[in-house]
Amino acid sequence: MARSALSLLSFSLCLLHSQASAISIVLDFSHDAATDNFFASNPTALASVEKARNDLQSVISTTLAAISSDTVTGTSGSTSANYDFSLDYTNPSTGAPESISLSTLPANQVTIFVGMRELTGAILGQGGPGGIGISISGTGFASEWADAVTATNALANDQRLRGGGPIINTLSGTVTAGGFPGFVSVSYGLAVSNLWFDIDTDNNTIADDSSTLSAYWHFDAYSPVAPGKADLYSVALHEMMHAIGIGVSQSWFDLVSGTDWLGPNVISLLGTGADTIDPDGGHISTDLVSTRISDGTAQDPVMSPSIFLGQRKTLTVLDIAFLNDIGLTTVPEPSSLLLLGIGALGLGRRRR
Ligand SMILES: [Zn+2]
Repeated sequence: MARSALSLLSFSLCLLHSQASAISIVLDFSHDAATDNFFASNPTALASVEKARNDLQSVISTTLAAISSDTVTGTSGSTSANYDFSLDYTNPSTGAPESISLSTLPANQVTIFVGMRELTGAILGQGGPGGIGISISGTGFASEWADAVTATNALANDQRLRGGGPIINTLSGTVTAGGFPGFVSVSYGLAVSNLWFDIDTDNNTIADDSSTLSAYWHFDAYSPVAPGKADLYSVALHEMMHAIGIGVSQSWFDLVSGTDWLGPNVISLLGTGADTIDPDGGHISTDLVSTRISDGTAQDPVMSPSIFLGQRKTLTVLDIAFLNDIGLTTVPEPSSLLLLGIGALGLGRRRR
């Protein structure tokens, strides 16, 4: 009897393990030396950023194909066109452009480069996806060049969109060979992103680099946000949502019309997409309140443009609907919480 119970247990663990093969967000702190190894010397802040990553990752069920080759080559007749890709991002600690020439990535992996740097005014953080670079070469006949480029575009789109998730952007232009133009157009999905936080929130030129010199930061995700403090966990979650495409990707902008949203998941949740987008075009309107997926409590969405001091935000039903609309699948919410969200609290406009 004991033996059979044990084998059942290990079987269910295997099932759980196979469910966890969705998107895997790798946080890369390799540029942090430029700001005195802020995260290595502030494990409480590091743990909060990691908790935000874990919480976001745990709701996303999208899988992404591996990028197993750095290049693609398409042909037409005797002519071939070769695209050699790089992954480009912004150094989170210095703001300098960075480029990774070997553009391969394991299945499901998205790398986010994280750092601290000086931000002006009241900005607490910024985040977004990186881009790609393409180096193009070819051999053969100029008369076949355009068709070879078209064939390579198809292969490149397949490889760079990874079979899931949002379209981040499309790189396009004309490359002429022997007087014959070839139209290059490559859409790409998630690969590398970048985000950074303000290292001097009170703008006094002294780094907010420890629990005693934190200025406006509340570094600890596992304690209530102190009055007058900005919650690093909440800001990290917000910037990571940008880093995976909310507010900044082609899939997002395809669904924005002024302050209206055209995506079906949000419209189904709210009954309308009208006036759901902040006038800045990249956030959820400050007029909207949603409910937390963790416990159904009313809360401003993570992706509204600002956060109050003393406030902690966790993912809401509305944040999830926007993720779904830009092409990310999510795990179902527990049905009891879903019922609570609809029946007890609902979603509505905040009176101002
Ligand atoms: Zn934002």
